[in-house]
Amino acid sequence: MIKAVTGTKDILPDEIPAWKVVEETIERVFRNFNYKEIRTPVFEETSLFARGIGEETDIVGKEMYSFTDRSENNITLKPEMTASVVRAFIEHSLGKQQSLSKLYYVSPMFRQERPQAGRLRQFHQFGAEAIGKYTPLLDAEMIEMAYMILKKLGLNNIIVKINSLGTPDVRDKYKFHLKKYLQDKKELLSEDSKRRLDSNILRIFDSKIEIDQQILKDAPLLLDFLPEESKKDFEIVKSHLTRVKIPFEVDPTLVRGLDYYTLTTFEIVSESVGSQSALCGGGRYDYLVQQLGGKFTPGVGFAAGIERILLACENEKSLNLPADSIDIYLIRVNNDLNRIDELKLIVADLASRLRSNDISCDYDYSDRSLKAQMREANRLKAKYVLFIGGDEYKDGKANLKNMESGEQKVIQLNELNESLISQK
Ligand code: AMP
Repeated sequence: MIKAVTGTKDILPDEIPAWKVVEETIERVFRNFNYKEIRTPVFEETSLFARGIGEETDIVGKEMYSFTDRSENNITLKPEMTASVVRAFIEHSLGKQQSLSKLYYVSPMFRQERPQAGRLRQFHQFGAEAIGKYTPLLDAEMIEMAYMILKKLGLNNIIVKINSLGTPDVRDKYKFHLKKYLQDKKELLSEDSKRRLDSNILRIFDSKIEIDQQILKDAPLLLDFLPEESKKDFEIVKSHLTRVKIPFEVDPTLVRGLDYYTLTTFEIVSESVGSQSALCGGGRYDYLVQQLGGKFTPGVGFAAGIERILLACENEKSLNLPADSIDIYLIRVNNDLNRIDELKLIVADLASRLRSNDISCDYDYSDRSLKAQMREANRLKAKYVLFIGGDEYKDGKANLKNMESGEQKVIQLNELNESLISQK
């Protein structure tokens, strides 16, 4: 039997209502903040991600689904969205149309990571990007939107962590001091951290290994290297969060995995989903547009993983899912062999009329008994059931039952639409 590829997942009909609630919440919140949706292709030229995300990052170094197509193009399935949005921003000169582009997306992403709970190879992210203006208010807005979406989904066990990574020159200066500090203790570091010392030193802070953590305790912190201006902007982000009543922690070790971040970075983690606890992450990327061939244009954004959020919602039992029901189920009361074919056609025509009037309806396509049809109506949580083919049928009538109140009445079949619509 052929199965879904490791790390990919079917989203079955039973799971869809929860996805819809998440998607509707996302769209509502983004609309309220005046963000417009953007959709980009599932694959891009590999060089976009190599240049945009950074050669030394885990994503580019070991997680991308890259291949050469039949025309010898180097293609990669998108592992994240910011590089693609920025590419589209430059390619379509979106910056010329307005001084600030506020964009959002919902899309599948692909990374060849080791699968585990909350970590897939095809997963779904939603996120936002605000490209064109530098203001710490937009940094705070990103955190506010992400937090608002998670709260509207009923999540309570969440923590907002923020940090400032400074501008690239400040970061370079800091990296120099950090390296000096770690170099002496190099032999004690884990193998991964030893490697990162030369390739991506800030990521050493992501190490979960005890000895690395011990050594890092006394390491110099980037926040202490920030110039006054960056400190002031970080204060603006914090004071805005306080004003809109979003609790947060400053985490000076929060470095994030991507190279393009500058100044504010943040993550929202859940305390109810186990080891893969980051529900969303983001930050400012003032040099990315330039790095990808555009002119200097500041930007800030975030991305959140839908599967992980759903896991948190499930663990916190936070979603109030709407009952999945249909408006009406049509039941043949008469399975008399002489009449069943005629009745089936009548039921099919009636169903078609109702459906074209936006009344959801279904019926039995085989020859099941009245009892079996009734069972099906209950399983589908039909709001109404219409019994067709009884004695009243010769006068063009049928018996309509309201399944909630139990009330039954005989109605004229050609008035069925109106009587259902009026009660919808
Ligand atoms: P990142 O782009 O790595 O900052 O990730 C942003 C968010 O996407 C994370 O906080 C997760 O919620 C989600 N995410 C990232 N990688 C995966 C994955 N392999 N499987 C599921 N969700 C993921």
